[in-house]
Amino acid sequence: MRSLTIILLLISGTALCQTRDAYESMRNRMVDEQIAGRGISDQATLQAMRKVPRHLFVPASYLSEAYSDRPLPIGYSQTISQPCVVAYMTELSKPAKGKTALEIGTGSGYQAAVLAEIVDTVYTIEIVPELAKEAAARLKKLGYGNIVAKYGDGYLGWPDHGPFDIILVTAAADHIPQPLKDQLAEGGRLVMPVGNPATVQELILLTKRKGKITEQRLEQVFFVPLKRLKQ
Ligand code: SAH
Repeated sequence: MRSLTIILLLISGTALCQTRDAYESMRNRMVDEQIAGRGISDQATLQAMRKVPRHLFVPASYLSEAYSDRPLPIGYSQTISQPCVVAYMTELSKPAKGKTALEIGTGSGYQAAVLAEIVDTVYTIEIVPELAKEAAARLKKLGYGNIVAKYGDGYLGWPDHGPFDIILVTAAADHIPQPLKDQLAEGGRLVMPVGNPATVQELILLTKRKGKITEQRLEQVFFVPLKRLKQ
């Protein structure tokens, strides 16, 4: 009986490792092919993308697609962004230890987790109450003690915790909200898709130096629209 238990333990242990390894190798392939292969070279970003278990951020019905090269539905008409877009926005924000980040549009919590692997603290805001709740529970379960998540309208930022070295907006609008510009720290970087929320947008990078904001227009992207809570 005892040896049977040990054999059973060994079998289930091996099966568990195989599952883990399968996701890890899918993740490494995703990084090699879709991310490093497309020119992302920031080591901290690449390491974070190799570490965060994306399959735990997608609905069970999309598990087999968790490491594929596309955004996936997460319910409530929202999506988890394509891995290479997450990596690109992360690299553009120049994440590093000692920095504080604000993310608008928590969604699944995946982008927040990627940032949280690198920076000291991530504040993240989500406007769909159900998603906000699910993401907060998921991030807690995964042990991300340096992510502070809340439900609310991210248009207004989170003044109590600002200014932020990094602000990532993962939903599109036709302009960059002034409160977010105001909450950007000296030397800070803000990345947001700006354009027609119904069609295509440009990724914009704002940098603040000596209080002055400089704008750079980058790649074309497609994000879900930034919504507003009724004022
Ligand atoms: N970063 C997410 C994906 C973002 S999808 C991830 O890694 O999974 C965009 C998200 O922005 C959606 O969940 C949407 O509900 C949210 N959103 C839209 N407008 C918002 C607003 N004003 N404030 C906060 N979140 C908003």
